[in-house]
Amino acid sequence: MVIKTATFVCSNTQVSALPPPTMPEYAFIGRSNVGKSSLINALVNQHGLAKTSQRPGKTQLINHFLINEAWYIVDLPGYGYAKVSKTSREKWEKFIRAYLTKRESLQCVFVLIDSRLDPQQIDLEFCYWLGEKQIPFALLFTKADKQGGTTTAKNVAAFKRKLGDWFEEIPTTIITSAEKQTGRDEVLHFIQEVNKD
Ligand code: GDP
Repeated sequence: MVIKTATFVCSNTQVSALPPPTMPEYAFIGRSNVGKSSLINALVNQHGLAKTSQRPGKTQLINHFLINEAWYIVDLPGYGYAKVSKTSREKWEKFIRAYLTKRESLQCVFVLIDSRLDPQQIDLEFCYWLGEKQIPFALLFTKADKQGGTTTAKNVAAFKRKLGDWFEEIPTTIITSAEKQTGRDEVLHFIQEVNKD
């Protein structure tokens, strides 16, 4: 898929204020600092569209970006930032869970996982929750340029093994690097195929 246009539409703190659900949308989520903004910018080839984290964990906003006048990328606030208070974390949970369970135009959630790390409990638990709610998701492993392919493969395999305890079918997995544009075509192709349905 060729990205012709990518524009910021709105930021929201309330599910009730989201744009009308008239176009398919794809949400991006992951731990703070996982590389979400960088990956969104790499996908649309527009440096600075999604704001790379100046204040990690502080912004609790759902950002909509309209792509090719036809579908949305939705940038969700990151989870797992240690310095966030319990109240703020609970607020995050309520807000995001409401969005993910209620948004009828949501096609797929891209869960971003840092490819440098062993499986992290917080990521696994989030995937289990998506599965429980029957929300379609795919895994995007980030920052693959940071280490050799063998380490990435080992971490990806370990994560999938963990998910295998819960899921009969492991979701689509794509290894990415915003830095090297790795996986970009695959992610866009995946979206194109879902949009066809
Ligand atoms: P976010 O908080 O998930 O939106 O993460 P950011 O996109 O702001 O990235 C966090 C940090 O990781 C920044 O310093 C980025 O430059 C760096 N980063 C993000 N993606 C990549 C990548 O693919 N490769 C490398 N080497 N660094 C990355």
